[in-house]
Amino acid sequence: MEGTKLIKKYKDLPILKGQVDKYGIQLRVWCPSCNKIHLHGPKAGHRVAHCHDSKGLFHDTGYIIKPFTKAELRDLGLKEV
Ligand SMILES: [Zn+2]
Repeated sequence: MEGTKLIKKYKDLPILKGQVDKYGIQLRVWCPSCNKIHLHGPKAGHRVAHCHDSKGLFHDTGYIIKPFTKAELRDLGLKEV
């Protein structure tokens, strides 16, 4: 089934975690390929890579973005915004 295939593929995608801004409109994720922050919409899910480098790590696959949980923010010493 198409859907199952997608899920399997998604499991192999890199996950970039980040922080949602205080307005809840942007998720800021750190990209290890560009060494930069990329801004996305706040919902977790698969995104086309915002990397400008066509040889970048995520260019062909995109990546999954996910907000940090409250516990993760605490562990990382980051403040909720
Ligand atoms: Zn990037």
